[in-house]
Amino acid sequence: MFGKGSKLYSIVGMKCPRCHEGPLWRSPFYKLKLYDMHESCPVCGLKYEREVGFWWGAMYVAYTFSSGALLIVMLVTLLVLKWELPAVFTAVGITALIGFTYNARLARSAWINMVVHYNPNWRKENEENEKKLSEAKPEAAPIGTPQ
Ligand SMILES: [Zn+2]
Repeated sequence: MFGKGSKLYSIVGMKCPRCHEGPLWRSPFYKLKLYDMHESCPVCGLKYEREVGFWWGAMYVAYTFSSGALLIVMLVTLLVLKWELPAVFTAVGITALIGFTYNARLARSAWINMVVHYNPNWRKENEENEKKLSEAKPEAAPIGTPQ
């Protein structure tokens, strides 16, 4: 369930959703470079931004994740630990600040995993696609040569 090939492995491990090997990010989240993301997977070559504006959807996922996490912090500090309201809001604020970068990245990881699925045969499919492309390409004459 948590091993390579599962969605959770890719989402939490922030790995490429297709090969589960290449990293999504160039730097760790605590470096606070919010979206320091590879353009494509360094291992299988999958382009991460699937289309223009693809990452807009990840904002809704980030909102859901952060709302859930902050609600849990609020309920635990308020109902279980019985803290006063100013302390509860301070805890929620600190959690939001600390978790901001990680949450934004986790949301992108979850978002791309909704669209792209694990494919252990990606090498074979890449080779087939390249073969198809090379067959489909007509012999192009250099520009300026008479036809
Ligand atoms: Zn990959």
